[in-house]
Amino acid sequence: MEFTIKTNKREEIVDITKEMEKIVEQEANKKSKACLIYVPHATCAIIINENYDKAVCEDILNFLKKQIPKGIWKHDAIDNNADAHIKASIIGPSQIIPIENKKLQLGKWQDIGLAEFDGPRERKVIVKIM
Ligand code: ZN
Repeated sequence: MEFTIKTNKREEIVDITKEMEKIVEQEANKKSKACLIYVPHATCAIIINENYDKAVCEDILNFLKKQIPKGIWKHDAIDNNADAHIKASIIGPSQIIPIENKKLQLGKWQDIGLAEFDGPRERKVIVKIM
């Protein structure tokens, strides 16, 4: 199954944990072992980390911004978003989360986020329960 997320800024981490938990509750059965979450996009990614303290997401975005400045790459001549491609490649387009008894096995401080690096855009999220 799939759903869409509208992002509001050029760079942000949108918490999609609630959406994912709802999908797993509805679609998983007792034999389900894992959930694959994937974004079919070149400038966003799926990240698993803390969102309880919002500063963690800001720190991750600021870290990437410092390491990967905007406007100095070859692709910037064509599309001006090379930094977004690099950030999305490093974080990656997918995550696999174990399922036990129809529940995602996220740790207490783990949330699932869609990391937008070239928004605002509408993003598709594909979910496969295995
Ligand atoms: Zn591009």
